[in-house]
Amino acid sequence: MGKFIVPDLPYSYDSLEPYIDAMTMEIHLTKHHAAYVNNLNNAIAGTDLEAKTLEELLANAGMLPAAVRNNSGGHFNHSLFWSIMGKNKGGNPTGKLADEINSTFGSFENFKNEFSKAATTRFGSGWAWLLVKNGKLVVSSTPNQDNPLMDVAEVKGTPILGLDVWEHAYYLKYQNRRPEYIENFFNVIDWDAVAKRYENAL
Ligand code: MN
Repeated sequence: MGKFIVPDLPYSYDSLEPYIDAMTMEIHLTKHHAAYVNNLNNAIAGTDLEAKTLEELLANAGMLPAAVRNNSGGHFNHSLFWSIMGKNKGGNPTGKLADEINSTFGSFENFKNEFSKAATTRFGSGWAWLLVKNGKLVVSSTPNQDNPLMDVAEVKGTPILGLDVWEHAYYLKYQNRRPEYIENFFNVIDWDAVAKRYENAL
């Protein structure tokens, strides 16, 4: 076994039905995420990078081999993605996070529109993010498996919500209808999990 491992899903593959189908979840975790972990372990095996944490690899991604940048990002991004979704979730954020979303974006609907636009307009494969930058909430997107923790990111900070817009994340159910997948993602967001990440990022 390598240094990094694929996490267990905190819910079953069919928990996000009908918004994200069970087969997509199973293939996404056991094939795609597993491949990022396997390729990351292989890329660092026998090098001094084996001693680095995932966060250290991400923070230096621009100076590291492409295999390390892509697969460390892939591992981090998917681990976050699984953790901010859940069964019977969705709805609206509450508490301090809700207040901050309202004061930053004007309303939850405005935030949702901005996030959805970032996800829709990300050309090709990538991710949309809600992140904390210097204590403030910001929406951004990144190409490929990059993320806001990377030195190479256009907008750097701590991601607290992420949406995978690679075709493998939605093609079985939605085919080319990325906007419909993005709309339905809001039915599975675990806002309590996002709020915990928000508190930790302050
Ligand atoms: Mn993916």
